[in-house]
Amino acid sequence: MTTVAAYAAPAGKAPLERTTIERRAVREFDVLIDIKFAGICHSDIHQVREGWGEAIFPMVPGHEIAGVVSEVGPGVTKFKVGDRVGVGCLVDSCRECDNCKAGLEQHCTGGSVGTYNAVGKDGEPTYGGYSTHVVVDENFTVRIPDGLALDVAAPLLCAGITTYSPLKQWGAGPGKKVAVIGLGGLGHMGVKIAHALGAEVTVLSQSLRKKDDGLKLGADHYHATSDPKTFEELAGSFDLIVSTVSAPLDFGAYLGLLKTGGALVNVGAPEEPVALNLFSLIGGNKTLAGSMIGGIAETQEMLDFCAEHGIGAEIELIGASEINEAYERVQASDVRYRFVIDTATI
Ligand SMILES: [Zn+2]
Ligand SMILES: [Zn+2]
Repeated sequence: MTTVAAYAAPAGKAPLERTTIERRAVREFDVLIDIKFAGICHSDIHQVREGWGEAIFPMVPGHEIAGVVSEVGPGVTKFKVGDRVGVGCLVDSCRECDNCKAGLEQHCTGGSVGTYNAVGKDGEPTYGGYSTHVVVDENFTVRIPDGLALDVAAPLLCAGITTYSPLKQWGAGPGKKVAVIGLGGLGHMGVKIAHALGAEVTVLSQSLRKKDDGLKLGADHYHATSDPKTFEELAGSFDLIVSTVSAPLDFGAYLGLLKTGGALVNVGAPEEPVALNLFSLIGGNKTLAGSMIGGIAETQEMLDFCAEHGIGAEIELIGASEINEAYERVQASDVRYRFVIDTATI
């Protein structure tokens, strides 16, 4: 065991503070990662504040981790000391169920292990990326290509894969009209990736406040959803809509924007249930679907795709002492577009 510095919430809803935690000794298939940067995901805040239910404390959040390998276990074959690597939302799974075998470790039926707010197979709690070091099995570690700077790569490990996976699965590409609901941490990655995939991209945002940004990020069109005319004007327009917002939406209204046979994929995780009139699905053979992050192989594919297309996240780099303020700003949608912690300041 090694004692390392971290930022943790000591209890539910409590502010995060500097502390120390124990990281396990490097095992046969583990890599020790010197964390350089950790993104702040909205789900960190949901979990610290127990919005998704009872959580494990103290909690060291962070599942957008970018760093450099500083030690490898004797059985490690995929990485060596000095490699640039990332860790996303998962650090283990059963590796035997049908989903694990299909590369869908995030849906492991034998019990996947979250990067934080979870208990590992050794019975110890897992601690995330708001820390200087982490020990992770090589099979849950991905390579960050040289072309991607580590600070802008960190948010790809959750925000990037969460949007890449449904865009790929639902065929975003040339000739397809794709809308992204919300231009936040997830949404801005959705716009960049959908544009790089060759789709015609529309942002559907509450207001036109971020319109200039949206167009710069790769959107072809930008509409305010607070304007009822948007829903008339764009009725029946899209092949695919990806909703990235965590607030409960009027999904029925958005389903009206799909072409016949179109799909609305939700990746947001509102704390409250939503109501839906199912006639909005029946008329036009529409699909309302969900998508949760992506598997390990697909996460690597996403990183390679982003490197090839020069895509990183738009970030505001902060010191660890600014984490609590950053949480307030994320809650107020006041971030362009992802806070990333420089872990040298922890
Ligand atoms: Zn996340
Ligand atoms: Zn499994």
